[in-house]
Amino acid sequence: MDFLRQLDTATLAFVTGLAGLLLAATMVGIRLAGMRSPALLFWGIAGLAAGIGHLLAHVTLTLGITTPPMLALSLANGLVTLVHAMLLAGVLAFLGRRTWWLPLSLLALSTGLIAQVWPEGWQHLRNRILVLASLYLVLDVTAGILLWRAGSQRGERFQNLVASAFLLNGATIVMRLVHTVYASTPDVPFAPGPFQTLVFVLSLAFISSLTLGLALLMFRSKEIELQRLVHRDPMTGLFNRRSLFEHGAREQARAERYGTPLAFVLLDIDDFKTVNDTFGHATGDDVICQTAARVACALRDVDAAFRLGGEEFLILLPCTGLDAAVAVAERLRAEIAQVPMEAIARSITASFGVTELARGHEDWESAMRRADVALYRAKDEGRNRVFAMSGMRAPATAIDARAVQAVDVP
Ligand code: GH3
Ligand code: MG
Ligand code: MG
Repeated sequence: MDFLRQLDTATLAFVTGLAGLLLAATMVGIRLAGMRSPALLFWGIAGLAAGIGHLLAHVTLTLGITTPPMLALSLANGLVTLVHAMLLAGVLAFLGRRTWWLPLSLLALSTGLIAQVWPEGWQHLRNRILVLASLYLVLDVTAGILLWRAGSQRGERFQNLVASAFLLNGATIVMRLVHTVYASTPDVPFAPGPFQTLVFVLSLAFISSLTLGLALLMFRSKEIELQRLVHRDPMTGLFNRRSLFEHGAREQARAERYGTPLAFVLLDIDDFKTVNDTFGHATGDDVICQTAARVACALRDVDAAFRLGGEEFLILLPCTGLDAAVAVAERLRAEIAQVPMEAIARSITASFGVTELARGHEDWESAMRRADVALYRAKDEGRNRVFAMSGMRAPATAIDARAVQAVDVP
């Protein structure tokens, strides 16, 4: 602990204040770089409040003020609560949740008012710490847990990193609470001693790691958004045609290496021009999106769905043979035909072409062409049906006489 005695609290407060201002400036910089998110505003306000709060602490320490006027306490308490409240509002905004910015701001205001309504109790440092630190603990741990949970779900390590900063700060606050309860602290603000120095050092570490972490988080989310734009169809959220080349080649390589089947289910909405003509193009778009949602629902984790264009979709089914793929297609066909589309309050139909990669004899693009031929056969045979084509010479079996036909490629 000796090194802590070497550190001067007034200077530490000043440096932490600068770190707060740097957090605010970093958020402004990220906004100027073109990123738009309300989270930036909330985190920027938090940085500004931390900056001003710590610079005021620096002034208090430099002037040697031991009994601060209640007005100064109001300002300090309100500012520090604002830091924790806005950090949480930013996390909520980042996660796309309701930000609760108004109640959180009112919370900051009300902690600022305690000094005015309860001056006799509030003049004791112990009371201030017990009330405010408990509140900050709740705010920081909430931010940490929300970020950690979202980060773990999406495999986002940066989110877990920032969540750790919040949770570690929570641990610091617990330490402060325990120290307040069990150690006798002189009743002056920033009671001098190694413990107060340690609190400043940990605050500095918290604000600095947040600045780095939040900046990384924002740039990472931008990268994810750009990747999404490159790989996904913006209207339906399914993979786009460009991603098919990546997925197709990868799945073919995997199927050949592990000797597992790979199936292709191609589907096209029937008479879609009529939907557009009857309900308009915008409603047609809604029907495409609702069909895409049903396609996505039919998938397992390992499957991938693509919008190849217009109202044509492909489902790539690894480790799935022709019969199982026909069953998937048939289930989807029946659901589309039976459950009305919300956008037009009636059901539509779709036709399906199904095939399986002939491993070692063709590449995935050749299998895709066969799925396309099968789809045309399904259309020719009267639509609203599944048509399967085996890539092998062995005779395929008819799976459902009404809706499904299977033929060999000669
Ligand atoms: P079929 O049963 O033979 O598939 O008949 P169809 O009317 O569905 O014909 P086809 O698949 O050839 O035509 C699809 C139509 O979908 C043509 C085009 O106007 C329309 N379309 C293509 N892309 C979009 C889109 O993004 N939104 C909307 N609303 N319509 C689209
Ligand atoms: Mg069509
Ligand atoms: Mg089409």
